[in-house]
Amino acid sequence: MPKYHIWTIGCQMNKAESERLGSYLEQLDYQATATAEQADIIVLNSCVVRQSAENRVINKLHNLKPLKRVRPNLTLALTGCMVNSEIERLQKSFPYVDYFFKPGDHPQWLGEVDPEAVLPRHPSPTTFVPIMQGCDNFCSYCIVPYRRDRERSRPIAQIACEVRELVNRGVKEVTLLGQNVDSYGHDLADQPDLADLLKKLNTIDELARIRFLTNHPKDMSPRLIEAVACLDKVCEHISLPVQAGNNDILAAMRRGYTVEYYRQLISQIRSEIPSVALSTDIIVGFPSESEAQFQQTFDLISELRFDTVHIAAYSPRPGTAAARELEDNIPLAEKRRRLNIFEQLQEGIATEINAGLKGKTVEILVEGREKDKWKGRTRSDKLVFFSDNINYLGQLVKIGVEKTGPWSLQGRVE
Ligand code: SAH
Ligand code: SF4
Repeated sequence: MPKYHIWTIGCQMNKAESERLGSYLEQLDYQATATAEQADIIVLNSCVVRQSAENRVINKLHNLKPLKRVRPNLTLALTGCMVNSEIERLQKSFPYVDYFFKPGDHPQWLGEVDPEAVLPRHPSPTTFVPIMQGCDNFCSYCIVPYRRDRERSRPIAQIACEVRELVNRGVKEVTLLGQNVDSYGHDLADQPDLADLLKKLNTIDELARIRFLTNHPKDMSPRLIEAVACLDKVCEHISLPVQAGNNDILAAMRRGYTVEYYRQLISQIRSEIPSVALSTDIIVGFPSESEAQFQQTFDLISELRFDTVHIAAYSPRPGTAAARELEDNIPLAEKRRRLNIFEQLQEGIATEINAGLKGKTVEILVEGREKDKWKGRTRSDKLVFFSDNINYLGQLVKIGVEKTGPWSLQGRVE
C-alpha cells in the first residue's frame, strides 16, 4: 500500500483541509505514516500569516530536499496559504516540489474528486466543517484574502447533509469554520445567514454540540446572538477578535469598528448569554503603536476579561496595505516586551476565571487521550483532563473539577 504524510501548520481551516485531504488519499488506498521519510507522497499544508510561520514552511521544504534527491519517485506537494497565483515563482524557488495547489483545492493530478469521498471515514467525535472559503475584508495587515480569495459560502442543504453523514460516522460536535462566519450566506441565492444555518443544524438528532469560528465584530448580528442564546446545541463560546484597543490603530488596521462599538457588542452578548465564554485575538507592535495606545489595549483586555486571548506580534506581510503604506517601526524587542506583558496579564485572568470552577461539576465531551488521561472540553471550551480505565471517547461525561490552572482543568468522573 502506498503511504502518505501530511504536515500541517496554521489555523483550524488548514487542519480541517488536511483532515479531508487525508481522507481523500485514503479513498485512493494510501495509508497514513507518522514520518515523512516513509511516505510515497508528502503534502505540506502551509501558513504565511506571519513571517515566523512562513519561515517554518521554508525550513521544512529545505529539510525535505535531500529526501527527494535520494528518492526521486517520492511525490512532494505544497498547499495552504504559501501557494499564491504566481506558481512559476514558487516553482523557481522550490524546483524539487512536484505540485502546488491552492488552499482548499484537491490534488487534481490524482484524479477527479468526489466531494463525499473527502469526509473522514472514522472522524474524531469533534470535527471541523468548513462552511465558507475566503475573506472579503482586507484588514490592512492580513494576507489571508490574497491567498484564499473572495468569500464563497456552501449552501445550507449541502452542509446539513454533510453534518448528518458525519454524525452517522460517530461525530458528536462540529465546529463550523470560516474567516468571517458572520458574513456566511450573503453570496447564496436566498441569502441565509449563520443563524439560519445554526437553526437547521440544531435539528440533527445525535449531534450534541455546534461551535463556530471566527466572528467579525463589524458583522456580528443580534440575530446570531439570539440564536446562540436559544439553540440548545450551540455552545456558549464566541471567538470575537478585537485586534487593538485604540481607535486610530483599529482604523489603520481597517477593522471597520471602534472600541466603543466592540465594548457595547460584548456587553450585549454577555447580557443575552450570561454563561458565555469569550475569546479574542490581539496584535501588538502594529506600525506606530505608541506606548499609550498599547496601554489602551492592555486596559481593554483587563476590563473585558476574556477566557482566552491569542496574542501575536505584528509581522509585515508583503502585498498587504500595511506593508505597502506603513513602516514596521516598532523594534522586535519592544514587540516581544508587549507580547510578554499580555501573556502575563492573560495568564492571571485565565487563572482567576478557571479557579471559579473548582469544586463545580462540568459536562465535557471526551475527544481523545493525552499522556494517559482522557481529555475533553466543556461547552465553554475549557479543556478538562481526567483519569479512568473505561473508554469514554465520544461521550458526554460529568466531571467534578478538583484542580484548575490557566490553560486546563483536572477532575474525576461523577
Ligand atoms: N479572520 C480572523 C483571523 C484571521 S488570521 C479575524 O478576522 O480575526 C488569525 C490571526 O492572526 C488574526 O486574528 C491576527 O491576530 C493574526 N494576524 C493576522 N495577520 C497578522 C500579521 N500580519 N501580523 C501579526 N498577526 C497577524
Ligand atoms: Fe484577515 Fe481580516 Fe479577513 Fe480575518 S477578517 S481573515 S483578519 S482580512
